[in-house]
Amino acid sequence: MKTILVSCLLAASAAFAADNRPLVIAHRGASGYLPEHTLAAKAYAHALGADFLEQDLVLTKDDVPVVLHDIYLDTVTDVAKRFPDRKRADGRFYALDLTLAELKQLRVTERFNVKTGKLVFAKRFPAEQSEFHIATLEEELQLIQGLNRSTGRTVGIYPEIKQPKWHREQGHDISRLVLPILARYGYATKTDACFLQCFELVEVRRMRGELGWQGRLVMLIEAGAKGADGTDHTALCTDAGLRDLARVVDGIGPAIARIVTWPSATERKISDLVKLAHAAKLVVHPYTIRLDDLPKNCPSVDELHAALFRDAGIDGVFTDFTDVTMAWLKK
Ligand code: CA
Repeated sequence: MKTILVSCLLAASAAFAADNRPLVIAHRGASGYLPEHTLAAKAYAHALGADFLEQDLVLTKDDVPVVLHDIYLDTVTDVAKRFPDRKRADGRFYALDLTLAELKQLRVTERFNVKTGKLVFAKRFPAEQSEFHIATLEEELQLIQGLNRSTGRTVGIYPEIKQPKWHREQGHDISRLVLPILARYGYATKTDACFLQCFELVEVRRMRGELGWQGRLVMLIEAGAKGADGTDHTALCTDAGLRDLARVVDGIGPAIARIVTWPSATERKISDLVKLAHAAKLVVHPYTIRLDDLPKNCPSVDELHAALFRDAGIDGVFTDFTDVTMAWLKK
C-alpha cells in the first residue's frame, strides 16, 4: 500500500499537473494577448492557469541572460529609433551589442515585421501601446515565484537556451551563465518544476555532460531537416534516433508538423513520432498552438487540439492561448 502511494506521488510530480492531464506550456507567456515575453504576458499566463511558463534566453553585452525570443532586438522593440548607430553590417540590432542598462531603455511592443513595419499577428495586442520592457531571467523567476507564493500554486518554468553555438562564436557562453542562475532559484533536479530546452544537440549533450545539468532536458526538433548546429533533425525522429536521444534527454519538443498534418481539409495524417518517443520513454511537448496561425488546411483549433491530445497522445503543448488549450483539456 505504502509503495503504491509513493509511486503514485512520484508519477504525479513527474507529470507536474494535478490531475495527470497533459501540460499546458504558455509559449512566450500569454503571447496571444500581450506582447511576448513581457512580465505582463507571464503574469497573465499564470492567471489563466498555465502549468509552465516559457523563457527564451539570450545574453546582453555584459553577459546578463534576458528573456527575449531572438538574438535580435529590432522585431519587438524601438531599438532602431533609440540606438540607430548600433546596427551591424547586416542591418540588424543584436541584444549582445547592448548592455543591460541600455537594453532597459528600450520599449517592447507586439512583434512586427522589420521590413514592412506591420504586426505579425494583426489581431493581437496593438503596436506601441502601454509600457513594456525586457526582463532579465532573474526578474522573471522572481515574478513567477512571487506569484506561486501569493496564489499557492506551483507554476513551472521552461527556459530555452537560444543559439548557443552563435553565442559561443561571439565569445559568450550562455549555458554556462544560465545554469547557475536556475540552480540558485531552486531548479536543478528532475523533481523541480523545470524543463530546460534547446534546438542544438551539441549543446544539449554539453549541458548534460560538461556542464552537469541534472534537471529535465528537452531536445527541440525543427520542422525542417537540419538544426542550426548541422544536426539532422529528421534522423532524430527515427526509432534509433529517439533511443539514442533518450540517453541524454527526458523529452522532445517537435514542431507540430512532425506529428500531424492535413494534406487537405478532410484528410489528416498522424505520424508515429509520439508512439516511438513513448517507446523510448521520452515525453513529447510539440510547439505551437496559435488560433490565428493554424497548420495548413487544419479546419479549427478544436481539431488541432483533438489530433494532438486525443489521437496522437502528446504529453503537453506550447500554446500562445493558455485559456483556449486549458478549456479544451477540461472539456
Ligand atoms: Ca522557445
